[in-house]
Amino acid sequence: MNNQQLQERKQSVIARGQGNVYPVYVERALNAELWDVEGKRYIDFATGIAVCNTGHSHPKVVAAVKQQLDKFSHTCVMINPYESAVELAEKLVALAPGNSDKKAMFVTTGAEAVENAVKIARASTGRRGVIAFNGGFHGRTNLTMALTGKITPYKHQFGPFTGDIYHAPFPMKAHGISTEQSLKALNNIFKVDISAEDVAAIIVEPIQGEGGFYPAPKEFLQALRALCDQHGIVLIMDEIQTGFGRTGKMFNCEYADVEPDLITMAKGIAGGFPLSAVVGKASIMDAPLPGGLGGTYGGSPVACSAALAVLEVIEEQGLVACANHIGQQFGEYLDSLQREFPEIIADIRISGAMIAMELIENGDPNSPNTQLTQALIAKAADYGLVLLACGFYGNVIRFLPALTIENEIIDEGMQQFCRLFRSL
Ligand code: PLP
Repeated sequence: MNNQQLQERKQSVIARGQGNVYPVYVERALNAELWDVEGKRYIDFATGIAVCNTGHSHPKVVAAVKQQLDKFSHTCVMINPYESAVELAEKLVALAPGNSDKKAMFVTTGAEAVENAVKIARASTGRRGVIAFNGGFHGRTNLTMALTGKITPYKHQFGPFTGDIYHAPFPMKAHGISTEQSLKALNNIFKVDISAEDVAAIIVEPIQGEGGFYPAPKEFLQALRALCDQHGIVLIMDEIQTGFGRTGKMFNCEYADVEPDLITMAKGIAGGFPLSAVVGKASIMDAPLPGGLGGTYGGSPVACSAALAVLEVIEEQGLVACANHIGQQFGEYLDSLQREFPEIIADIRISGAMIAMELIENGDPNSPNTQLTQALIAKAADYGLVLLACGFYGNVIRFLPALTIENEIIDEGMQQFCRLFRSL
């Protein structure tokens, strides 16, 4: 079967809502490279959306998974638990920022982690409201869709949305929205829409991921912490895309020196096995009754074993520090491209190995160049690259390489990317 035949089969049986960026069907993948069913090689700058931080099929992760499968594959952590879940929770509570006593809970996807974080916040405060930010992304389930700021395609046709969710502007230096403006709008929500004393949680991504890789200023995250303390609101930090070393710290909010009440984790946690977690202050985490959280597969033994191996690899190979070197290497190529095309490349945003390039038309910062972004993504496969777009207008190219990527592969991939850019 070749790519085209598989794409035709796929289109006739898989709903178009689960569309694919590339009609490229993967046969195998290793570290930062993958090969399709026709034998063509690609450099993977997407890592399955920031999932394979330790690269594809890291031998340690593969060995841990095989070892677990030889013992048992599932019992349900809520029926007969196992040591790997306990050990992973111990590791995550130790890694999460801050000194408070913490606990963890496991589910399978990022959206589920966010759902459960909101449930925990509501249970512990007895309040209903949740504040999220414009441009934010928290998932595709009913509640997380309501929290998500971007309409198309995530919310289009899917209403009515769950209530008691309010959105404030996210500070974006590149678009002239300051921390002060954002906080003022947030305080206005407390005056006009819902009293602060009825708000259970504020949820924020320390760097908006799907929104376009906009970092929250340090003083903004600190102000949110103060505001939550003042009104007894639970601060949820959504580190699903930024976690596990991606931005040069284990968790991005460490840069702002802010301890969230709850932190949502997924993606990079288990090297590709479906696992997510909520980790937070023990007093808050223990508010729901036994049986109120989790699910059949949450904290699967196979995923927990993979996650323990991932954490070991991050530590042994010093991957948190690698993220910054990777960002610098990408930056050299992207900065020189920006000097060559100042009218088109409006901004380069690099936070460790979370790297973005924002495209505009004719030097006008208010004209997002979605068309060029789409063309670059569409042609990337011809150049042997896997790339993704993001941003409110879909005009941001994002690079999310494995933290284990070799320097020579970055050079090769970025030289290809520069060729691709110049070809359009
Ligand atoms: N939160 C953030 C910040 C994300 O980036 C994502 C996914 O991209 C999610 C939540 C949802 O995760 P999932 O797709 O695993 O449900």
